[in-house]
Amino acid sequence: MLFKILVGFLCGTAVLATENNTTHAAPVPLLLVSLDGFRADYLQRFPMPNLQLLYRQGVLVEQLTNVFITKTFPNHYSLVTGLYAESHGILASNMYDPVSHKHFHVSNDTDPMWWSEAQPLWLTALDYGYKTATMMWPGSDVIIGNRTATHFSPYNSHVTFQQRLANVTNWILGNDKEQGAMFAALYWEEPDRSGHLYGPDNKEAMGEALKAVDENIGLLVSELKQTGLWGRINVLVTSDHGMAQCSAERLIRLDDCLHRDNYTLVDLTPVAALIPNHDPTAVFDLLNKCHAHMTAYLKKAIPERLHYQNNKRIQPIILLADEGWTIVQGKTDKLPRLGDHGYDNSLPSMHPFLAATGPSFRQGYQVSSLQSVDIYPLMCHLLSVQPRPNNGTLTRARCMLASESCWDVPLVVSLVVGVLLALTTITLLFRMLRSRQTSGPRPFQRLHIDDDDDDPLLE
Ligand SMILES: [Zn+2]
Repeated sequence: MLFKILVGFLCGTAVLATENNTTHAAPVPLLLVSLDGFRADYLQRFPMPNLQLLYRQGVLVEQLTNVFITKTFPNHYSLVTGLYAESHGILASNMYDPVSHKHFHVSNDTDPMWWSEAQPLWLTALDYGYKTATMMWPGSDVIIGNRTATHFSPYNSHVTFQQRLANVTNWILGNDKEQGAMFAALYWEEPDRSGHLYGPDNKEAMGEALKAVDENIGLLVSELKQTGLWGRINVLVTSDHGMAQCSAERLIRLDDCLHRDNYTLVDLTPVAALIPNHDPTAVFDLLNKCHAHMTAYLKKAIPERLHYQNNKRIQPIILLADEGWTIVQGKTDKLPRLGDHGYDNSLPSMHPFLAATGPSFRQGYQVSSLQSVDIYPLMCHLLSVQPRPNNGTLTRARCMLASESCWDVPLVVSLVVGVLLALTTITLLFRMLRSRQTSGPRPFQRLHIDDDDDDPLLE
């Protein structure tokens, strides 16, 4: 045990987990809900009574480190595959594939070619005999490997949260003819829409938007209670990314640096993707000194920590704007959006949260952070599905589970150090006492008395 604690400590894990010796219960249905653009600190900045009630009965992960680029499609595909964008191939809202010469845009996304570099959980779970369901989750209406989820619904912004939820619960419940879905994914486009429109710093407008989002969580819980699913379903509520405040004072005009004839633009802001039309070095040099709040990268020099290099759909030059800055083409002073995302995934403003509740989760447990790619192996574990190769790990999420016993490493280490110190002190004291005893007169030592009497008794 001591060895395990020390290994865990050296590995830098925050907690240690061991699986309890309880028999594995049969998996229960799993519902994954995404509230698009829910920045982690909205939880502290706005009252969210329903969401709070939900995670207080389960687990709250305060911040999720999501994947770069911090856009909707890349992150939604990462949640259901456990892969970084470079590995699943959905790299941005606008893409160009240099082999097929095809263009991708989020409003025209159903060509399977873009999605087939990975297999989402709603397909993998089918191989285990499960029914699956997806409600407007990005990519879920695409036929990947000739399959879709058992039930799916293409994106339609006119369908209310309540209507989406009613369908999802019906799919999970099943009926006389069809077994219920064991995995369901539900997408909702708020608070992303309001975040873009008003900016995350607009307290009043975001307060309204988040009140509505929280009421939807209230609806979710009451629907699950009404249908008898509450208590026998695991629910994950999460998001794809956060939101940063933008400003017309923070515009980066590409046209100020180089003429458009020099490049073909694939994506613009806050991560621009460019293909140089001629001499790449000359184009890069101009972009490299273009603006103090924009970093230019040649594809091969994109930092490893971004995991955004090894894919043919990543263009030769990437421009990354600093938080809250907007890249524009043209001499415009007009800000396209008051709030935006896509920035560096190390920024807290880009991070979403995770709330988990249900029979498989601990109650009233809080974790400060987790990687969003860890959600996939966690979901596979909950469903007893073998995860496909992925960039996440269950190790970091284990302590969220009710079946695990976890120790807080700093606490355990301080206890171990305390016990060792106490043992050392006792040993030292004991040794001191012994040495005192041995240095004094020995009670049964024979004394030599110089006596003329040759008394043999004293010899
Ligand atoms: Zn958005």
